[in-house]
Amino acid sequence: KRRIAVMTSGGDAPGMNGAVRAVVRMSIAQGCEAYAVYEGYEGLVQGGDMIREMKWDDVRGFLSRGGTVIGTARCMSFKERWGRLKAAKNMVIKGIDALIVCGGDGSLTGADLFRAEWPGLVDELVEKKELTAEQVEPFKHLNIVGMVGSIDNDMAMTDATIGCYSSLDRICESVDWIDATAESHQRAFVVEVMGRHCGWLALMAGISCGADFVIIPENPPSGNWEEEMCKVIKKVRVLTLLMTPQANTLKHRGLGKRKTVVIVAEGAIDTNLKKIPCTVIKDLLTNKLHLDTRITTLGHTQRGGSPCAYDRMLSTLQGAEAVKAVLEATPSTPSPVISIVENKIVREPLLEAVKQTQEVAKAIEAKDFARAMSLRNAEFTE
Ligand code: ADP
Repeated sequence: KRRIAVMTSGGDAPGMNGAVRAVVRMSIAQGCEAYAVYEGYEGLVQGGDMIREMKWDDVRGFLSRGGTVIGTARCMSFKERWGRLKAAKNMVIKGIDALIVCGGDGSLTGADLFRAEWPGLVDELVEKKELTAEQVEPFKHLNIVGMVGSIDNDMAMTDATIGCYSSLDRICESVDWIDATAESHQRAFVVEVMGRHCGWLALMAGISCGADFVIIPENPPSGNWEEEMCKVIKKVRVLTLLMTPQANTLKHRGLGKRKTVVIVAEGAIDTNLKKIPCTVIKDLLTNKLHLDTRITTLGHTQRGGSPCAYDRMLSTLQGAEAVKAVLEATPSTPSPVISIVENKIVREPLLEAVKQTQEVAKAIEAKDFARAMSLRNAEFTE
């Protein structure tokens, strides 16, 4: 029986468990055996009990659980050839020649490199007498299939990554909670959301929550943005100060809005690539508009909790497609990543998707923000 392994790697994302469940059950349904690699590449390098067979009922209840039950880790040794050599040995010992990785662009880059090196790795293991020629004979090629698990929605060539809509939901819910108190006290809130090179969460949260201003890394605020921001906020905002000596002199009512929300991506920068901390926005709102301003960093609450319906659906459909891709792969097919494009589950070349993703970070570094924005998908750019 063919043996297919699944792993979660890099930062955890809601929906990763759904991907593991789908791979395990689809593999079994297709007459294969399913294995889970625990703790990302660490489990592959350590081998033994870290690579375990999964039966149909081992993944029961996975669909609604947040995080990743089989664990994830950053693994330095897999970045070294000796680490990948150990990983190859562990896979051959377990009789596994197909690996489905759910992770970010780093994890997928590692997976593709592993596949490219594979024939050399198994030859070396035979030369070093760690494995016999008979042992490696059925495992001359490694199949790799990627799935993107990331709350940031930061991968090119897919409309959504597993986890991004759960995270967006959580942000919206949190901002709704903040709204209630902001409105009661006529306060302003600067809300920091995740996204180091990617402003998708910030931008979509801004749209979904009706924020007053959004700052994202791909399109940094330029010119006299501080004044612009204050102008935009002042237009709609009640600026009457309550119970202060200035209360009688400042009676601007704008369009009557009693709260202000500015959403800032974790990776927010100015056009000189200098980080824009939330404190800068807070000081502007406090000093220029006299707003009682607070900062809320949502942090890891954005990763937690159970996946939303979209992520359950996406991870299940993609997991099933990943197994199909393994079974249809040939030694000459480039490794695919399973994507969703215009609501269709499709396979895209993994290396190309990783390359395009890295292009965005490069464009930002080169201060070519027009290019950074155009590299993001249409939905995002508009
Ligand atoms: P993400 O997959 O979320 O981008 P990382 O970049 O931290 O997260 O990658 C997760 C793990 O994938 C790393 O700890 C490492 O084990 C492996 N990895 C990442 N990049 C490479 C690479 N270039 N070569 C080999 N392994 C890699």
